[in-house]
Amino acid sequence: MNDIPVIDAHIHIDMYPAEEQEALLREAIDQGVEAVVAVSVDLDSSIRTRELALRYPGRVHPAYGFHPEQEPLSDGELEELLHWIRERHEAGEAFAIGEVGLPYYKRTEIEASAGGEFDESPYLAMLESFVQLAAELDRPIVLHAVYEDADKACRLLKKHGVRRAHFHWFKGSADTLKQMAEAGYYISVTPDVAYEEEIAEVVRRYPIEQIMVETDGPWPFEGPYEGRQTVPGMARESALGVARVKGLPVQETIRRLLSQTQSFYRI
Ligand SMILES: [Zn+2]
Repeated sequence: MNDIPVIDAHIHIDMYPAEEQEALLREAIDQGVEAVVAVSVDLDSSIRTRELALRYPGRVHPAYGFHPEQEPLSDGELEELLHWIRERHEAGEAFAIGEVGLPYYKRTEIEASAGGEFDESPYLAMLESFVQLAAELDRPIVLHAVYEDADKACRLLKKHGVRRAHFHWFKGSADTLKQMAEAGYYISVTPDVAYEEEIAEVVRRYPIEQIMVETDGPWPFEGPYEGRQTVPGMARESALGVARVKGLPVQETIRRLLSQTQSFYRI
């Protein structure tokens, strides 16, 4: 079953303990992981991810950005990050923009607390800066935007004419999925497709042509993965889940997911 390689289209390699990262990647390669898309959560994380990408050419494809589920950047910090990303572009380096998006979990937690009000405007402004940059540099963008936040992200993508958008670990309504599919956007699926009916339903509804697989490691999973460290090789389990839910032949599905990820990221 390991003959057809997989790509883990979304993982935070730099969030594993530093001394484990090299072994993690070597083991992944041994397990038939062709490559990973290594996303970043802020400037320091982007710098670390770039170093990994330089050490593992063709295996670690970096994405640079700012994870939305944290305090927003000041204008100066945002400028610094955008400037650093532009420098990578001017140097002719390969990369995507991400992980960026909107703070669904942070926002809904604050809104659910007594008298909680959440000001989303700085996050929308940051996201728009990243979307604009993706359009300007013609780079794929990796989004953390679920449920109603995906509609807001779609509006920004359309406003700036970005087509290569990847909504990772997507969850959302049938209407949102339809809109995203029609716009040509991609989603990726984690191993929780094995035990979360909500995710299986997303896979059922979304066109197979616009699906990729991921692990979001080191995020830990439940169900059959309870107590197991999340590793890039588990993207194969995500692929098996997609094949099962779609009722498609396993080998053909793994091959298709691989080639779609290669074309989307141009890797
Ligand atoms: Zn992530």
